[in-house]
Amino acid sequence: MNGQEKAAKVIAALKKEYPHTKYYLDFSNPLELMVAAILSAQVRDEVVNATTPRLFRKYRTANDYAKASLHDLEKEISSITFYKNKAKHIKEACKMLVEKHGGKVPRTIEELTELPGVGRKTANAILQNAFDKVDGIIIDTHCIRLSYRLGWTESRNPDKIERDLMNLIQKNEWKKIPHLLKDHGRAICKAPAPYCSKCVLNKLCPKQGVTKRL
Ligand code: SF4
Repeated sequence: MNGQEKAAKVIAALKKEYPHTKYYLDFSNPLELMVAAILSAQVRDEVVNATTPRLFRKYRTANDYAKASLHDLEKEISSITFYKNKAKHIKEACKMLVEKHGGKVPRTIEELTELPGVGRKTANAILQNAFDKVDGIIIDTHCIRLSYRLGWTESRNPDKIERDLMNLIQKNEWKKIPHLLKDHGRAICKAPAPYCSKCVLNKLCPKQGVTKRL
C-alpha cells in the first residue's frame, strides 16, 4: 500500500467514526465568517460562537467595523484571547475591504492573505466555507499534530504540511480532512497523550503508542 492509499484508508475510517463532522464556527455570510475566523486563532470554536451573535447584531457591514471605535470593539470581544490584537485586525481588515473591495470579502487566497489578521489557514476557511472554493487545506493545531503522528509529514511548518497533505490526499477530501482530524484530535488523539488503544486508526498509524507531547 503506498502513502496515498494509506491516507485514503485513514480518511475512510475517520468518516465512519465522525459521520457528522463539519466546520464549527457559526456565520451567515462571508463577512461574519471572516470575523469569526480571525477571532478563532488559539480559541475554542465554542467560545467564539458564544461571542459572535451579539457582535454580528451590532456590526452588520464592513463599514460598521471600519468605523467602530476600537474601544467598543474590544469590549464586545473581551472574552476572547488576544482580543486587543484581534479587534485591531478586524477593524483594519474591514477598512481594507471598504477601500479596496467595495465592502465585500474577496474570493482569492492572494487578496484574502493581504488582509490584516488573515493568514493561509483563515483564507482557506473563508474560501471553502463561504464560497465553496477549495484551493488548499486548513492547517490548524489538530491537523499539525495528527498529520505528524499519522506519518503524513515530518514538518511542523503549516505551509509545508499543507503542501505535503495536498500531495497525499485526493482533492475531493481537502475540505473535510481538517474537520475529521479536529474531531479525532479532540476525542482520541489528544495533545498530551493519545488514547491509541481506543483509536480506530491504530493499525494504520506509524506513531501509535507515542506519548510525547506534540
Ligand atoms: S494510533 Fe494513537 S497516535 Fe495514531 S492516530 Fe490513533 S491515537 Fe493518534
